[in-house]
Amino acid sequence: MAMRTEAQPIIDALGAVLDEPKDDCVLPATWYVAERAGAEVVIAVNGVDPHHGVDSIATVPAALTTYETCRRWPVDLIVSAGVAGAWSRCGAQVGDVFVSRDRFVYHDRRVDLPGFDVYGVGSFPAVDASRLAEELGFSTGIVTTSNSLDETDDDRRMIAATGACVKEMEAAAVADVARLFGVPVMAVKAITDLVDHHVATAEQFTANLALATERLRDALLAVIDWCGPRTVRDLGGGQQ
Ligand code: SAH
Repeated sequence: MAMRTEAQPIIDALGAVLDEPKDDCVLPATWYVAERAGAEVVIAVNGVDPHHGVDSIATVPAALTTYETCRRWPVDLIVSAGVAGAWSRCGAQVGDVFVSRDRFVYHDRRVDLPGFDVYGVGSFPAVDASRLAEELGFSTGIVTTSNSLDETDDDRRMIAATGACVKEMEAAAVADVARLFGVPVMAVKAITDLVDHHVATAEQFTANLALATERLRDALLAVIDWCGPRTVRDLGGGQQ
């Protein structure tokens, strides 16, 4: 998780305990552990950037924290959890919870060279979580990632080409690293803002952050309870 505001409600709800910082870890990230539904849950929070004093959002911290997490724990499933933007055209409303579908992509890595164009967009598999989403009443959509809260016209063209419904700043980087470790990954994102709304994204984000983080906490508890007694195969009904 990128922001403390996103992570604190689920840390509190789980009664998760801080994992002792390791001397050889240079990251500002922190890890919290809890037991629930027969599962060991590790909450990795990117932490505060030591130079700017704000939460370490976007792709570099997400990749590094995922890497360190996979080195330290025998991970069965990674969940990129947080808040995100979405489109009304996908039927999204503020406060909705989306689960990733199909793949994670980037929309700000434009490299017009053979091979690198496809590499730039990326295509990191999202574990089939269709059964979980249906049973818990969550929407599903392709998640697209960039390092910006807003989007340029080029970004919009790339998003339209991938048909993404959820837009944020970490998931593709998490999935990129998860693939290196061969660990299945899904995203659970609560919507703070509608990208195709006339009110500016930053304004919507601030107004709706509290609601979305509450919904995120409730969704994550439901996901953990659903996953605890099951295997990764069950997420999609065993058809993957
Ligand atoms: N921490 C800052 C702003 C965070 S930036 C503040 O408190 O004001 C937005 C964060 O929320 C990122 O981690 C990103 O993943 C997510 N996010 C929410 N809506 C988004 C959108 N429309 N586009 C991109 N990222 C979004």
